[in-house]
Amino acid sequence: MSAFGFDLPTEVVFGEDTFDCLGEYSGNIGKRPFLVTGKHSARAAGYLGRALAQLPGAVLFDRVEENPTTTQCEEAAEICRARDCDHVIALGGGSPMDAAKAIAVLARNPAPASQYFGVERYTEAPLPLIAVPTTAGTGSEVTQYAVLVNVEERNKRTITGPALFPAVAILDPLLTLSLPRNVTIATGLDALSQAMEGIVSTHSTAASDVQALECCGLVRAWLPIAANEPGNREARARMLHAAMLSGAVIAQTGTTLVHGMGYYLTLEFGIAHGLANALLLAPVFRWNARHLPDRVAEIAAALGHPGPPIEPAAAENITVAVHTLLGKLGVSPAAKDHGAREDRLDWCAQHLSGDPSRFKRQAGTFATSDLHQLFQEAYEGR
Ligand code: NAP
Repeated sequence: MSAFGFDLPTEVVFGEDTFDCLGEYSGNIGKRPFLVTGKHSARAAGYLGRALAQLPGAVLFDRVEENPTTTQCEEAAEICRARDCDHVIALGGGSPMDAAKAIAVLARNPAPASQYFGVERYTEAPLPLIAVPTTAGTGSEVTQYAVLVNVEERNKRTITGPALFPAVAILDPLLTLSLPRNVTIATGLDALSQAMEGIVSTHSTAASDVQALECCGLVRAWLPIAANEPGNREARARMLHAAMLSGAVIAQTGTTLVHGMGYYLTLEFGIAHGLANALLLAPVFRWNARHLPDRVAEIAAALGHPGPPIEPAAAENITVAVHTLLGKLGVSPAAKDHGAREDRLDWCAQHLSGDPSRFKRQAGTFATSDLHQLFQEAYEGR
């Protein structure tokens, strides 16, 4: 067994109605929070009103778009700095949470945001953060990553550093009851993807494996229930837990090629982040089965399809496991059914091939033709 370290500096507060403690946690950190949220859902579901009632003097930024951009975070950080805010609170899915992290960096460090892509590239400590997730998928509330669309190169890049772990994560499953079916499914599949990628990452550890396998089992058991019975509080809680575990996993392991490829499906064809990853799971994990059949077999078993830890069986079982889950969710495994265009796949493969950062934690080496083949398999739903 390999040596490993494990540090999760975020204080996690989990349970129904924990959202009511937001004001108290904010007051313990500072006097003037910068509250970051998305354009519609927090207001529509009443969460924004409940947050503002607990945060007198908060400065609100309620314009975060899905897949937040460097430009938008720079604009928001200017307001945060000008209004002298001393901490940042994220209320929303991965998009507001990641935007809040970038704003926390940029409030203390000059723009442009793109100069902070990479590990701890900022010089001044970011503002402290509180994260309140309203989707159950990204686990960003317990990670040190802020994933942004870099408008200069039209790709997703990550600002990373230990100071980006939120100081506190408030996980109230009741805030996820309002998730529509499609967002429930896409975000839940993102948690699954992160857990599966963590298991085959070159940085997986004994600690991350436990969390990742638990996450796979939770998603398998509870995501179909959360999708089909949106008011099922037990399912909502289990999925929020699964998402948090998946965040804890990638905080240790990073993500792998599925995420690297998924960004292309999102930015080129507008496929939701978690769904984009899910469509790549069967093709990429069949590939992973060539290098890591034992790990892939463990994942297939956690998803209800046990079998011998050898290549053809592991590859077959993981394909059946992923397709069975997608079938239960009523999701086509074919990217062509979600807006992907076959004539763009070659460009995606070429572009990806020139970006070594996407292969950092991925087993095996890939020719451009291999990447094209994987995109093609995802396109066809194989
Ligand atoms: P999201 O982009 O934050 O939100 C997706 C949609 O769901 C939005 O329309 C949002 O509305 C809506 N929504 C959110 N909460 C809702 C609720 N409780 N009820 C009803 N609607 C709700 O989706 P996400 O999948 O959570 O986040 C994806 C982003 O996270 C991507 O940019 C990805 O790169 C990033 N990510 C980051 C990490 C990390 O570790 N940092 C890990 C994985 C993914 P509003 O826009 O109105 O809020």
